[in-house]
Amino acid sequence: MERSPSVSPSSQLQDELQASVKATFDVSVKRPILKHLNADSSWLLSLPYPEHIQPPPGRCRYNIVIDVWLRGPQVDLFGWFSSQEHAKPSNIQSFAELNDLLGGAETAVTGQEMGGDSVYCIDAVCCSHEFTDHCHEATLKELPATVPVFASKKAASLVRSWKHFEHVEEVPVYQAGYDWRSLKDSQLPNWVGVGRIHTKGDAPIYFHSALMITFALSADQNSATEALVYTPHGVHADSFALVHSGKHPIKVLALLHGLHDISLAGAQLNLGMENAIKAREILGAKYWAPTHDEQKVAHGIVASFLKRIVHTLPWAPGSHPITEREAGQSDREEFNVAEKSFVELGNGESCVLT
Ligand SMILES: [Zn+2]
Repeated sequence: MERSPSVSPSSQLQDELQASVKATFDVSVKRPILKHLNADSSWLLSLPYPEHIQPPPGRCRYNIVIDVWLRGPQVDLFGWFSSQEHAKPSNIQSFAELNDLLGGAETAVTGQEMGGDSVYCIDAVCCSHEFTDHCHEATLKELPATVPVFASKKAASLVRSWKHFEHVEEVPVYQAGYDWRSLKDSQLPNWVGVGRIHTKGDAPIYFHSALMITFALSADQNSATEALVYTPHGVHADSFALVHSGKHPIKVLALLHGLHDISLAGAQLNLGMENAIKAREILGAKYWAPTHDEQKVAHGIVASFLKRIVHTLPWAPGSHPITEREAGQSDREEFNVAEKSFVELGNGESCVLT
């Protein structure tokens, strides 16, 4: 893969992180794998089955896709109002292609034929928002109706209105003391959970919200449950303190949060790098991968009012705004702390989360 030029003192660490980025997909490792399906905000989180759980025949992973929009335009309300297309073709062009990739990778490891329900290797779909770049009808309807969908309240209503999927589940909004295991009648396996985190005071749209996918990969009750926190527009960093207030300890393995500041008529839409640096620290995330930063081809009146400030963390130490919390530190120190976790996954690239 192409490497980003790095000029910071911790470039060696950064190189090690980037060395784990692969364009191939090898599921023999018994750790979560994160794969970027396009250049924007569509992801695969591939989880290994815990050793004490028997997977379906021929399978060894539980595969969750998040906010998948692969081809064609995404329109908000009307094309003249707001319409966007990917500037770069998605590395994965269809769910059939992704399913073939996953099936081949798992069969190579298990050495067993898949049969019955286990033939389809996409096990769950998550939609963080009802907006059509996160909940894309044409893409999602490529899936078999039997794949369960886990979505925010409004996104769940939208998906149900298509009358395509048999099971659409509204994900709970976590509050202090939440229990990620408490989902009853859920089609998630009991070692996986999905919940939502809101920015305080962001009602009623909850534009700044996150999905948190939790997974207990060990039978040992004492080992912490791990989590991936996905927030395409950002959650105000302070609101992430909630993650550590649950009934069970959570270790945040990865944060997906964009770098770019995007605003519309003065209102900040994507919170960008400054918020991501704070969020990563509050969450204690081991990895931070940017998301939703593709500079798409946009049409309509909304596009003419959008303002984007592009940040490139590995390239430009010192380029980001100094925050209040940073006042006691040099900009470079703060940058280095953030960089230790930063792994940039391009269109189609994947990374093992160790
Ligand atoms: Zn968005």
